Amino acid sequence: MTEVGFVGLGKMGAPMAARLVRAGHLVRGYDPVDAARAALTAAGGTAVDSATAAAAEVVVLMLPDSDVVEAVLFDGGLAAALPEGALVVDMSSSAPTRTQAVADRLATLGVALVDAPVSGGVGGAVAGTLTIMLGGDDAAASRAADVIGALGSVRHVGPVGAGHALKALNNLLSATHLWATSEAVLIGERFGLDPATMLEAINTSSGRSGSTQKKWPDFVLPGTFDSGFSLALMLKDMRIASDLGHRLGMPVELGDAAVQRWAEARESLPADADHTEIVRWLRDAAAARSR
Ligand code: NAD
Repeated sequence: MTEVGFVGLGKMGAPMAARLVRAGHLVRGYDPVDAARAALTAAGGTAVDSATAAAAEVVVLMLPDSDVVEAVLFDGGLAAALPEGALVVDMSSSAPTRTQAVADRLATLGVALVDAPVSGGVGGAVAGTLTIMLGGDDAAASRAADVIGALGSVRHVGPVGAGHALKALNNLLSATHLWATSEAVLIGERFGLDPATMLEAINTSSGRSGSTQKKWPDFVLPGTFDSGFSLALMLKDMRIASDLGHRLGMPVELGDAAVQRWAEARESLPADADHTEIVRWLRDAAAARSR
């Protein structure tokens, strides 16, 4: 049993913290949203009233991005409140080069950091079936895995920053797949094909992806657009991946085209739109073109 601090009890953090409680850990969690803290208490954890009060030997962060991670750790004082030898597990989808800088800064305080972003969505967080992409040195990685193993399957993918790089690249692919799938299905629909029939055939063919196997069937066809992952956070991840490619002098042609289209959608949709709303937006754009 480990005492675990948990900061960021949002759509992902809430079910993840609840799973850590069920795995037998003593979880002290913080989120500025009252309802999020109340949900942790209802799940058997202890809600605290500041991020610094969540300081513990192991602290999990599940925050929107690097800006918030740095603000919580350094401006908010969590890093200074951690005991020497503590471990910070950043499960947010942060920017890898910033994560490396955060790790260096924490090291001067005697605190280790691993990056451990996840894939699998809210459903995976609830079920404990997340894919966890862990970046860090061997000792810190194995210490983290003992705690976060309860959340899904852990892959140690490289040194600090490797997990965040891989996660952003995964999401650039995922977003590009969703855009490409949507163009293809909408073209087929205009030709007279039934989208559900198309997806069934594609899902046993070479064009399949997470978008044809999950996003379209579960969130688009029923018209619910409620995956639980916002378009703003997806665009953030795409930009991290594109920025990484440019820093490394690599071509990011398809990726940048996708970033541009998703950024246009972000401008015209509500701030809290689900990322699957991109399909509705593409469909509306196609309808406007044919008028
Ligand atoms: P969310 O917006 O639902 O949750 C973020 C939480 O952080 C909110 O509850 C917010 O109140 C809290 N927060 C913001 N500022 C804070 C601060 N200063 N101190 C403490 N808490 C603060 O987002 P989410 O969907 O849970 O995503 C969290 C991270 O996980 C993001 O990096 C996202 O990209 C990534 N992610 C999300 C999904 C998904 O399906 N939603 C899947 C994989 C990865």
